[in-house]
Amino acid sequence: MLSALEQLLLPAECALCHQLLGEREASHLTCALCRHRFRPVRPPWCGRCGQPEPHFGPCRLCVDWPAPLQTVRSAVWLAEGAQQAVHALKYGGLPRIADDLAIVMAPLRPRSDAAAALIPIPLASRRLRARGYNQSELLARALARTWRIPVLPDLLIRTRETPTQTALTPGTRLANVAGAFGTRNAEVGTRNSPAFQLPSSALILVDDVFTTGATLAEAARALTQAGATTIHGVTFARAAIPDFT
Ligand SMILES: [Zn+2]
Ligand SMILES: [Zn+2]
Repeated sequence: MLSALEQLLLPAECALCHQLLGEREASHLTCALCRHRFRPVRPPWCGRCGQPEPHFGPCRLCVDWPAPLQTVRSAVWLAEGAQQAVHALKYGGLPRIADDLAIVMAPLRPRSDAAAALIPIPLASRRLRARGYNQSELLARALARTWRIPVLPDLLIRTRETPTQTALTPGTRLANVAGAFGTRNAEVGTRNSPAFQLPSSALILVDDVFTTGATLAEAARALTQAGATTIHGVTFARAAIPDFT
């Protein structure tokens, strides 16, 4: 209903370049040209964390990740149009843009068994109330439709609020999110809210932006503690780490 209303009220123009959208693109918020202009993250990269820096010796970015977290990939660099798109998704009141970003993420599907399930990185409840939606869940739901696998939005939970990560260095980011996640099945279920069972299939964490991977690693740690054995991560964008050499 809301999205039908949105389509009626908003002029059908690309949210990024403001060119009018053709009839075939009217259900999108961005034009195909803008989506093609996003700068893809390309190999060579670390086979595990997908960071395309040349590595000598073990990769510093993912060396401390929990063992079940096998691969993390990002579709595009957080620059120009992609940065604008993430901003629109998180702060611009354009949640539907998640569908367009998921188109760009579609090739990231991890090569694992077909029974994988998607797990969005949860928002702290205060931030969720302020925004009205979890942008990672919207991305996960759009990917779920494309990949035809389920989303488990309630399995992973935030156990505490964390300060915003934007200005933190890799080391402080890690400390910042330490113990920030738990799983619902760690709690005792009640009749109205039964304890969750962790599925035995591969779990694919979904987030909007990868910076140091600290958030994904910490989420994977919580899932590992709950018994997960195969975890992957996908994000729409990857930010260059300024002070990571
Ligand atoms: Zn455009
Ligand atoms: Zn790595």
